[in-house]
Order: sequence, then structure tokens, then C-alpha cells
Amino acid sequence: MAARSALKNEGPLGAHVSSAGGTVHAPPRAKALDATAMQFFTKQASRWAERECALEESTAFVAAVSDAGVHITTAHDSYLINLASPDTTLRARSLESFVRELQRCEALQIDYLVSHPGNFMDDRVSGIQRNADSISEGLARVPGRTMLLLETTAGCGTSIGSTFEELAGLIDAVDMSVRARVGVCVDTAHIFAAGYDLGADFDGVWSRFSDTIGWQRLHLLHLNDSKVALGSRRDRHELIGEGAIGEAPFRRIMTHERLAPVPKVIETPKLDDAETTDRRMLALLRSFAS
Ligand SMILES: [Zn+2]
Ligand SMILES: [Zn+2]
Repeated sequence: MAARSALKNEGPLGAHVSSAGGTVHAPPRAKALDATAMQFFTKQASRWAERECALEESTAFVAAVSDAGVHITTAHDSYLINLASPDTTLRARSLESFVRELQRCEALQIDYLVSHPGNFMDDRVSGIQRNADSISEGLARVPGRTMLLLETTAGCGTSIGSTFEELAGLIDAVDMSVRARVGVCVDTAHIFAAGYDLGADFDGVWSRFSDTIGWQRLHLLHLNDSKVALGSRRDRHELIGEGAIGEAPFRRIMTHERLAPVPKVIETPKLDDAETTDRRMLALLRSFAS
């Protein structure tokens, strides 16, 4: 097994799984997919209501991850959080929620917290600064092992982070004392919708990535095809190979010297049956790797 992995240089691969019924139920769902990476929500992502992870939950979760054979765990934070908002009330609420996300990650010994950069609303430059300041404060308030991964965005509305340059600038604006805990998650559907042509210019896109953000900051890939066209600045995930990106770039990713070893998680549509559909997607990706 070790020899096979070394030969093929494969990183952990898995899916976003449901945590319905409690976080302890997420790892068995990953195991059912033979996944070696998993992503999940530590609370209801579309609600402000917070929760804490008691010791019992943490212990059970860590045991379940180990039992499932999952090597990389990532939590995705709430969609309501906007750390770049000019509205001080909303920004304070977002920061509080972000801190709670980080605390739950620490309690559950999660490797990565994936977070979308905020929406600047008024002015881009001040928005990026507000976003960076909130990130710095949140990380300073919750010391620990969980790394924050800022996800590339599709660029709808006033969202920050739809260009590699802007995401690099945001990271550079984070306080030096916590900057080492900040990395990047690239979502293939988002960068394609933001105008990065993975089909026609695969090598060009990734060389721009390495020149601006750098390979050392890339800790996770969200592998999703896109329902919408190149540059359409909308976030609509599609099954791998069945969208506007198509199969070829995913084949390249699965065998690419720098990208193949990076942990990967799918967030593709689950259709009628999450387990069946995700199994099919992961089998397809694994077939690209061999
Ligand atoms: Zn994503
Ligand atoms: Zn998305």
C-alpha cells in the first residue's frame, strides 16, 4: 500500500459528507466511500446558532476518524460569516462565529478549517484589510493546530478572493504572528467561473498560481465541475466530467506532479443518493490517477 502510494504520489481523496445526527456520524459516511479525506460542517452552515463540542463528542469523533481510516479532516465554516463587512455589527457577529468554528475544529482535532473570504460591500481595498484584520484576531484568539484555508471564490457580487493575486494579498495582510496558520483551498469550479481556463490553459493557470500564491500554501483542492461557463462568476457545482470544465483537467490534476499529492475533496451534487453518487465520482477520479 505504501509502495503504491509512493509510486503514484496520490494525496488523500474524499468528499464533503453529512454530519446529520452529530459529528460522530460523519466519519462512517466517509468510510462508506473508502475516502481518505473528508469535509463536513461542525454546525448548521446556514444558521447563526452556535454550539460547542463537549469532551465526549470530541473523544467519540477522534475515535471515529481513526476507525474510518481518514487521514485528512476539514471543516467548512458557515456561509453567513462575512469577515470583510463594513457593517460593524455584522462583522463582530461574524468574528464571534468564526472563533467558535475554530474552537470546534480544535476540539475535534480537525486539520483544516475552510473559509470563504468575505464580501467587501463598499470598497475593495478597505474590505480586504477588514477581512485580514478579522482573520488575524480570530486566529490569535484560538491558538492551536487547525490551519485556516482561504478558498478561491467565483467572484460573484463583491466577494474577495476570485483572483490569485487578491488571495495572495489578503494572506499578506494577515498579521505575521499568525500568517503561518493560513493556507489556500482551490475550488476548480470557482476558479473556472472566475475566468481561469483549466481546459485551454491548464499549465498557464497553475503557473500563475505558483507565481502568486505559491505551491507551499496549497493544502486542499475542492474538485467540482461547473454548471456555468468560464468567467460567468457564479458558483454552481456539477458532477466531474459532466460540466463546462469537462474530464480532461481532472485527469491532469490526478497525475500532476504538484497537484496529485494535495488532499482532495469533492462537493459535487449528491443526486438521489449521496453514497452512490459520491462513490461513482471518487471511482472516476481514482481511475484518472491510474
Ligand atoms: Zn468549495
Ligand atoms: Zn462552490
